[in-house]
Amino acid sequence: GLSINSITKRFGETEVLRDVTLDIADAEFVSLVGPSGCGKSTLLRIIAGLEDPTGGEIAIDGEAVTGMRAADRNLSMVFQSYALYPHLTVAENIAVPLRMRSLSAGQRLPVIGPFLPGSKDKRAEITAAVKDAAEMLEIGALLDRKPGQLSGGQRQRVALGRALVRSPAAFLLDEPLSNLDAKLRVQTRAEIAQLHRRLNATFIYVTHDQVEAMTMSDRIAVMMDGEILQCDSPSIIYEDPNDIRVAEFIGSPK
Ligand code: ATP
Ligand code: MG
Repeated sequence: GLSINSITKRFGETEVLRDVTLDIADAEFVSLVGPSGCGKSTLLRIIAGLEDPTGGEIAIDGEAVTGMRAADRNLSMVFQSYALYPHLTVAENIAVPLRMRSLSAGQRLPVIGPFLPGSKDKRAEITAAVKDAAEMLEIGALLDRKPGQLSGGQRQRVALGRALVRSPAAFLLDEPLSNLDAKLRVQTRAEIAQLHRRLNATFIYVTHDQVEAMTMSDRIAVMMDGEILQCDSPSIIYEDPNDIRVAEFIGSPK
């Protein structure tokens, strides 16, 4: 499981996260919703290790990971802007986390240079993992293309492939579908749900879309002003909000 223990975050004078505590079980799908600026992305970045908390602790399976570098946490984060490397092929983009993992601390990934340095065995292993991830996302035919030659939906799949290839214990998705048109969003949403069932991994999913949160989640965490007000099943969040602000945000009766 993933434990978020009393996380606080300050940027100068501004307190962006205030004592956020949440336990997420293995294989659980938790959506994180709340108004713009309430701290969703900051919380995700802290879990991923891309940002240090001011206070508190993140633990994975009971082990504190605070201070551990992002590449060593068994987590994958997917952003709204896909952040693919434009000069690398789809296959190379998907392989990046595996290459990062094989680097020792302090060593940097060469930006330009031979793809997949290292032993032949290691290379074959990475190639096979990339192929598996691509096939699961139905982009196996696009491996040699560059991001510039892909549609938005295909690019988002490459970003998902890059998250998938490390076989992480948890996926952290920050509004991964918000750049897609309505049709593609519904389709990709279904694929993410399917991925969740197949992989049995933990998902934390930030979304602005209430329907997405309602239909995909085991639990929905409603966040406001740097706090989680309530984290419950969609039906409880909707039918029995514990706070007027939750009710107002979700648009449910109370
Ligand atoms: P949105 O739904 O718009 O993506 P969010 O819930 O993801 O919003 P965050 O990006 O986590 O919100 O930001 C929370 C607050 O922290 C905002 O007020 C933001 O301005 C502030 N903030 C985020 N990053 C920084 C930073 N590096 N320096 C200063 N303030 C920051
Ligand atoms: Mg955000």
